[in-house]
Amino acid sequence: MSTNNGSERGGWMRVTLIAGNWKMNKSRREALAFAQVVPSLLPDTGTSEVLICPPYTMLYELQPLLAAAGIKLGGQDVFWGDNGAYTGEISASMLLDTGCTYVIIGHSERRQVMGERDALINKKMHKACQEKLIPILCIGETLEQRKDGKAEKVVAQQLEQALQGLSSQQMDNLVLAYEPVWAIGTGVNASGQDAQDMCRFIREQLKQLYGSQLAAAIRILYGGSVKEDNIKEFLQQQDIDGALIGGASLDAAVFANIVRLGENV
Ligand code: PEP
Repeated sequence: MSTNNGSERGGWMRVTLIAGNWKMNKSRREALAFAQVVPSLLPDTGTSEVLICPPYTMLYELQPLLAAAGIKLGGQDVFWGDNGAYTGEISASMLLDTGCTYVIIGHSERRQVMGERDALINKKMHKACQEKLIPILCIGETLEQRKDGKAEKVVAQQLEQALQGLSSQQMDNLVLAYEPVWAIGTGVNASGQDAQDMCRFIREQLKQLYGSQLAAAIRILYGGSVKEDNIKEFLQQQDIDGALIGGASLDAAVFANIVRLGENV
């Protein structure tokens, strides 16, 4: 079994990324309480990169508190335009302004609930890369697609369409999150082996698109009901470089414990 934290793959050092996606959860009071307690719960000499993506309303206020604990800040989405008449949207420069370094793009909830299509996701990817926000591109199949034997085809298509027109140089910091839709918020996670198989497949696709060096360097996360009792199983996989965590990132003690359990796997 390979060592995940700070280990090498194809000559590149891998640093595990543990990312929390709060979605539309937490009042200001709850978010501040999390930020106040989480530094004391995280491992003192952790090697993983830790990221929180809170609701937009909390980005600015959380930034210094999280930064003091070495936690990075990310947006849950971004719009492709610079500014203007786009009611309800948020721009890349606004996210950067609050101290974000990452942004989630193409989350399955946005695809399924808000009807986002691959073409729109591609425009958002271009904007994030152009503005040097690190995109966490989410891809994954539904249960029906998996049962029909179409999981790989769907994931390959989502990947190719989201990355269309992006150069190797723009891929430098790209993070991918394999999130099978049937595992998100359901408590039913993919097995470590199934997640590994798909992440390996995604890396093979990246190899065809951008070559083996870049494919080895791009971090691929698993997301879908990650918890304290399964984080190790995912991080032990050769092609899984971290986790995108929804429900279990809302509780500071649980989230910090996941980070702790993921150290030096
Ligand atoms: C997510 O929101 O990306 C996610 C994986 O959620 P959960 O961990 O709750 O399944």
